[in-house]
Amino acid sequence: MNVADSNRVAAALEDLDYTPTKLPNQADVIVLNTCVVRESAEQKAIGRLTSLKPLKLKNPDLVINLMGCLVGIHGYSELRRLYPYVDVFSQPSDPRPLVDHLQGKDLTTKKHQEISDILDTEFAYKLPSTKENAVVTAFLPIVFGCSHACSYCIIPLRRGKEISRPPDEIISDANTLVASGVKEITLLGQIVDRYGQDQPGYPRLGTLLRKIHQIDGVQRIRFLTSHPNWMTDDILDAVADLPKVMPHFELPNQAGDDVVLRNMRRGYTIDQYIKVIEKIRKRLEDVSIATDIIVGFPGESEAQFNRSVDLLKTVRPDMTHVARYSPRPGTYSARKLIDDVPQEEKMRRFRIIEKLQEQISAEINQKFFGKKVPVFFEGKSKDRWRGRTHTNKLVFVDDKANLLGKIMNVEITWAGPWSMIGVIEPTSG
Ligand code: SAM
Repeated sequence: MNVADSNRVAAALEDLDYTPTKLPNQADVIVLNTCVVRESAEQKAIGRLTSLKPLKLKNPDLVINLMGCLVGIHGYSELRRLYPYVDVFSQPSDPRPLVDHLQGKDLTTKKHQEISDILDTEFAYKLPSTKENAVVTAFLPIVFGCSHACSYCIIPLRRGKEISRPPDEIISDANTLVASGVKEITLLGQIVDRYGQDQPGYPRLGTLLRKIHQIDGVQRIRFLTSHPNWMTDDILDAVADLPKVMPHFELPNQAGDDVVLRNMRRGYTIDQYIKVIEKIRKRLEDVSIATDIIVGFPGESEAQFNRSVDLLKTVRPDMTHVARYSPRPGTYSARKLIDDVPQEEKMRRFRIIEKLQEQISAEINQKFFGKKVPVFFEGKSKDRWRGRTHTNKLVFVDDKANLLGKIMNVEITWAGPWSMIGVIEPTSG
């Protein structure tokens, strides 16, 4: 989401004739877009913000814009006091305060933080044209904010309530992205499956996927993040019917124990989660599923943690994004529950999940060895081409040809837990 928001701001700056620089000390404007979903992310953001102070002291004309979840939607007087060298504060996704500032508009008369400008149609979700390398993949937010309120999660507090974007704007942005060379679009929302449900008359995600599917030039469509309670037949039908929609689901689980899940306010039980996974796998044969697990949630006992381990052994996801719980200011869990699992114990649990997932991923990926799979190439990492299978597996290929944006058949010659290596099939292309 932040990558997409940063591109939105970069494109808005480009429309004002700014050009990018890699060197902060040469910049006229610095935008620091921030994430605070975990304490470590917040510390990193504050570290970067602090490192900008000497630049401002050296060059008082430098405009510093602090953006994103560190600012949030509820005002920023405390941040202004702590970081007086910041010129502009803006809530997540919103380029308006910076653009107004650069155009010399009087901000003191506007209560920016009370007026959400994230839907401002002046600012498309497009890529800046001055980007250094050709870009063939892009993120496109379709739902802002979140109204679910998991007990540990700061996102609803900082990004506000769920707002689906109008479908015609999404289609327009998708067309703009395609016109700039993008071939794979990933639709984003905290609960992307809920698209349209907050706005009367809007289509649902399945219908939106069908509309985007019709755009010439779009080769692949992905969407994330899903929530077990909102995985409808309409979505599964769209994935099954539409060849450009990739059969990959990001379906966070968060914990393997029903009491922990209830304390997290996730809104489902383990049984229900497993049933959703079974339903997806029954409907779509060749499908991959990634999940999220939080370890060390307040009160999580050894036995409860072991149920997360058991769940992963049962579900065998293709990938697990594992996080150590950290209390986030203002959330229910930070206010009401004691963060009683020691850091070392969180780390131990983290490593157990990581190791288990490594083993599961290695076993799943081993089945690709010797197989030929279509791979979409999205760029280069060092000297090798980097691409993804339908099911989001990372594949590296050494090849002299320009593969960027191409879908090629690749024979897998090595398969590890986190990536695979292959060679282009000679007749492919
Ligand atoms: N919207 C998605 C969902 O419903 O789960 C994911 C959103 S969040 C950006 C990404 C992940 O961060 C979550 O799935 C969760 O595992 C993790 N996370 C969120 N709050 C956390 C916290 N307080 N401590 C540790 N991990 C957290």
